[in-house]
Amino acid sequence: MLHIVVCVKQVPDSREIRIDSKTNSLIRQGVPSIVNFYDMHGLEEALRIKDSLGARVTVITMGPPPAEKALKECISLGADEAVLVTDRGFAGADTLATSYVLGAAIHKVESQWGQADLIFCGKQTIDGDTGQVGPGIACRLNVEQLTYVNKIVSLENKEKLIRVQRHLEDGIEIVETKLPVLMTVLKDMNKIRRASLPGMIRGARYKPIVWTAADFPELDRSKMGLKGSPTTVGKTWVPEVKKSSGETISADMPQDISKLALDKIWETKIPQQMGWL
Ligand SMILES: Cc1cc2nc3c(=O)[nH]c(=O)nc-3n(C[C@H](O)[C@H](O)[C@H](O)COP(=O)(O)OP(=O)(O)OC[C@H]3O[C@@H](n4cnc5c(N)ncnc54)[C@H](O)[C@@H]3O)c2cc1C
Repeated sequence: MLHIVVCVKQVPDSREIRIDSKTNSLIRQGVPSIVNFYDMHGLEEALRIKDSLGARVTVITMGPPPAEKALKECISLGADEAVLVTDRGFAGADTLATSYVLGAAIHKVESQWGQADLIFCGKQTIDGDTGQVGPGIACRLNVEQLTYVNKIVSLENKEKLIRVQRHLEDGIEIVETKLPVLMTVLKDMNKIRRASLPGMIRGARYKPIVWTAADFPELDRSKMGLKGSPTTVGKTWVPEVKKSSGETISADMPQDISKLALDKIWETKIPQQMGWL
């Protein structure tokens, strides 16, 4: 049976975030936490494979103890097992230190439930937003990485072959490779299911497996948490929203609106600046 690991991160719901206009910092108080939605698409894809081919799905997160809630949600949707990797010594980790610990945690998952054939990560998180953790884990585990995947074209369990569609800036790429593989997924990959009532009950009752730094005696302490994080944030600020005085153009027919808009553009300096003249 296939073994699939899904990496999920609990993030503040960005739709609820406001900015303190005096300090220019995020107001996190009272902001609900959600599972990063790219990760939910990774979980959905894992569950679809489980439904069609049969698979064991393990979800894993590294975060503070309240991240347990994110794992329970994944269990309610159909994941089999969930692991919370948490320790004060892991806190303050940048992407280098995060991928170091998550790589080790996936190794530990594999030693308990068998080698992971597929590892899903989101393309990026909606808070840290770097998109570096997935490729970082792939390097730590020395497995192939397929980034920006928006479709699994085929998955051959016997031959351990996968063919995916990658959505790149300048087009679509179809790539085939052998398992095991780590994929970072896009949000148009699938539609996330809703939890069933029995699933919700299972999620509510489920207690995730918790691993702390003590469970990883082999790890180099100087590569974990804040100590192992060379990234520094120089400055943060809220971009100024420039208000421009717009003009509304109206006409009965769409083609008349286009013509009026084009006439307006030709009256400006834009054609000269663009070298159209
Ligand atoms: C005690 C503790 C406290 C923490 N507090 C914070 C905090 O306040 N703010 C914060 O942003 N981070 C926190 N972390 C987590 C860690 O520092 C970040 O996850 C890491 O820096 C991720 O960077 P990113 O958001 O840019 O990820 P990206 O590289 O954008 O993430 C890409 C993908 O990688 C996977 N991924 C990323 N991070 C994790 C994770 N932690 N667990 C599982 N999968 C992951 C997801 O699939 C995600 O979609 C904490 C960790 C611990 C142990």
